[in-house]
Amino acid sequence: MVRVGRTGGLLGRAVLGAGAAGAVAVAGWWRGALTADGTAAAVAVGTPVFAVGGGRWAAVLVGFFTLSSALSQVGRERKAAMAAVANKGSRRDAGQVLANGGVAAGAAVVAGITGKPEAAFPAFLGAMAAATSDTWATEIGLLSRRPPRSIVTWRQVRPGLSGGVTPLGLAAAAAGGATIGLIGSLGRPRRELVALGTLAGLAGSLADSVAGATVQGVYRCPRCGEETERRVHSCGTPTIPARGVAWIDNDVVNLIGSAVGAITALVLARRRPGRRG
Ligand SMILES: [Zn+2]
Repeated sequence: MVRVGRTGGLLGRAVLGAGAAGAVAVAGWWRGALTADGTAAAVAVGTPVFAVGGGRWAAVLVGFFTLSSALSQVGRERKAAMAAVANKGSRRDAGQVLANGGVAAGAAVVAGITGKPEAAFPAFLGAMAAATSDTWATEIGLLSRRPPRSIVTWRQVRPGLSGGVTPLGLAAAAAGGATIGLIGSLGRPRRELVALGTLAGLAGSLADSVAGATVQGVYRCPRCGEETERRVHSCGTPTIPARGVAWIDNDVVNLIGSAVGAITALVLARRRPGRRG
């Protein structure tokens, strides 16, 4: 191990954190889960988390990344057919990484500045739970035999389009949040962390769906008439704005979802001052 003195402590941990984040990110790139700029963004997100947070924080981040990447491989053919609708490839780019991990990394930076990682942990856990819930809801919800319905109008929407929910997707969102809470308690299942992860995950992914159904920019292909989140449709035709706010894309919506997850967890954690073990 590298021995670090008191003054060099933070720098030493930052170097170790960057090394660990780099190793995980490059492994993700190697396995096809990240683009080149997504790998750089993953190092930027992972460095403060590994450097400041320690074991539980690192486990949550690696758990989110590993489980979400694995889930994206489930039902690949069915999902490939829907890639025409959603503005997503199988590799995560920098925008997607920062949308999912930016708030969590921010919590780690705050923990480093204040020197109180325990106080910032619920925000970190909530942000990661929301990102996990949304990813699981999307990846597993796409496999639903039932067509998704808009969370706002309750009308049927095309699979893959933001704002649509299915019972399967909601169950996956709850499971994803609970899993992050479980990983966050690192070997000692603490009911309150599992509950915190579940509730923050559900709140974040519901906020994500509402934002996706209302403000997110949706485009229409003038040639096929299909709605899509892409600026250029899969048929090669540039699309035209149909509804929502043009600059609010899926990444902005994901960022909103993880912020709601972080705030939800902070509020819930404050209501329970009796922190055990
Ligand atoms: Zn088209």
